[in-house]
Amino acid sequence: MSLKTKTAVVTGSTSGIGLAIARAFAAEGANVVINGFGKADDIEAARSAIEAEYGVRAHYSNADMSKPAEIETMINEADKAFGSVDVLVNNAGIQFVSAIEEFPAEKWEQIVAINLSSAFYAMKAVIPGMKARGWGRIINTASAHSLVASPFKSAYVAAKHGIAGLTKTAALELATHKITVNCISPGYVWTPLVEAQIPDTMRVRGLTKEQVINDVMLKGQPTKEFVTVDQVAALAVFLCSDGASQMTGANLSMDGGWTAQ
Ligand code: NAD
Repeated sequence: MSLKTKTAVVTGSTSGIGLAIARAFAAEGANVVINGFGKADDIEAARSAIEAEYGVRAHYSNADMSKPAEIETMINEADKAFGSVDVLVNNAGIQFVSAIEEFPAEKWEQIVAINLSSAFYAMKAVIPGMKARGWGRIINTASAHSLVASPFKSAYVAAKHGIAGLTKTAALELATHKITVNCISPGYVWTPLVEAQIPDTMRVRGLTKEQVINDVMLKGQPTKEFVTVDQVAALAVFLCSDGASQMTGANLSMDGGWTAQ
């Protein structure tokens, strides 16, 4: 099935993996809703480039994924503008690196809200329409940290393990409705989120930038290369295809072999 008549909402898509996924869906003909924070000019440039390059319609929603009411509004507005939300990618995510005893409570709450609860609220809003139309694709950007842990990332690891469980539960609930629910679990992908972790990791572990990249980040990634955003986006496109219609409830690793160890 082509994505030509479809609408995709991709949360956290003003940058990094989400933007690559939104662009890849647009390249397949889908109308897209991008979402996330950033400079207004940069967001408008990304939105208008999608329309210009792929001849689809692209909307921007500034919904804050830590606020359930804004998530519901984003889905309702997408539905009103395009007539349906056929593909939902729960991708928005943030990171914070600290030992548990020093981990700020508000950071814990924020990470759980953005990286986990937002997916629940967005699913809750899109599922009735997907069921009514008899087709849907829900893709959650999890992480290798949905399968294994690393020290100092308690909230992130807990939220990502949670999203893997939510994915399986939703897949079972929707299995007979032609709605698939899967998560993609990348290892280290070179994005602003990863770049932003470097100073904190340098501080917490007392390392240089090169040591963080080679001895911490890529230490556990046997290929010794970062995953690219386009590789993650290609898997998201595949999950929307007919070829993937029997894949549901899966946690798909794309981590250079990290979790094979
Ligand atoms: P990124 O920082 O480039 O993008 C994150 C996006 O989320 C941005 O668009 C940002 O504006 C948005 N966002 C943040 N808080 C938000 C909020 N409250 N409401 C709405 N949008 C919000 O990071 P990325 O690396 O592209 O990460 C995307 C997803 O991929 C995250 O869920 C992350 O956990 C996951 N992931 C990333 C890596 C990696 O190595 N980069 C690895 C595994 C999983």
